[in-house]
Amino acid sequence: SLKGKTAVITGSNSGIGLGVARELARAGADVVLNSFTDRPEDHALAAALGAEFGVTARYIKADMSQGAECRALVAQAGRCDILVNNAGIQHVAPVDQFPVEKWDAIIAINLSSAFHTTAAALPLMRAAGWGRVVNIASAHGLTASPFKSAYVAAKHGIVGFTKTVALETAEEPITCNAICPGYVLTPLVEAQIPDQMKVHGMDRETVIREVMLTRQPSKQFATVEQLGGTTVFLCAEAAAQITGTTISVDGGWTAL
Ligand code: NAD
Repeated sequence: SLKGKTAVITGSNSGIGLGVARELARAGADVVLNSFTDRPEDHALAAALGAEFGVTARYIKADMSQGAECRALVAQAGRCDILVNNAGIQHVAPVDQFPVEKWDAIIAINLSSAFHTTAAALPLMRAAGWGRVVNIASAHGLTASPFKSAYVAAKHGIVGFTKTVALETAEEPITCNAICPGYVLTPLVEAQIPDQMKVHGMDRETVIREVMLTRQPSKQFATVEQLGGTTVFLCAEAAAQITGTTISVDGGWTAL
């Protein structure tokens, strides 16, 4: 059980981050949810999660594109036994047409935020005598696709960062690993299915198989619950000697 541990999950008011937060809470951890908004529904989401699993759940607003706010998130959490660097955005364009501000935002949110939160969290983990850093990278941390230069660069970068942090903490009861999801069925992805059905004149199953999951040999999406379960495993005693590596949850994508 993760009772007594506090988990900070960046970018967790939707999608994978929320799924990871739910599984950590189910395992008994107190959780800190985060995004860059500060709406009543963000705080209500945390309250509902806390009530459902009988843990303390808070929502803290912090913009992961800003280094100082990344560090403030961890400081405001007060404890950070488990840090899940999940916040991320995407933009698709050829390199020579890639908007500079999109490049900068992707590198800041998908890569540099993890540097800032990890730098702030390690002293808290050392003081507590235990820690887990879990970086949500991507199959694009290990392979590339055209038109996703910033995303692929940031995700390869976070895999390298993961290895470095693991070496720096190797003799301590702290581990640092990256999870590399393939295509995950989040509300964002689900919302694209009707449009793709129209554009290609295909039914739902065909769009999923032939358009969305062409690179995922299982022809199935990974789920946010599976990513949450993988995160909980990395926090378990069984995973205490797993550090500085990647775990792919991609239906065979990177085996191709
Ligand atoms: P999502 O858009 O549902 O979630 C992204 C989260 O990050 C949201 O909670 C959003 O509010 C938050 N966020 C965005 N910008 C932020 C900022 N500046 N500050 C703080 N929070 C911010 O997407 P998702 O699919 O759940 O993606 C989560 C992570 O998983 C990302 O790092 C993404 O690259 C990675 N990933 C997703 C897939 C997939 O198929 N969905 C596959 C591989 C990796």
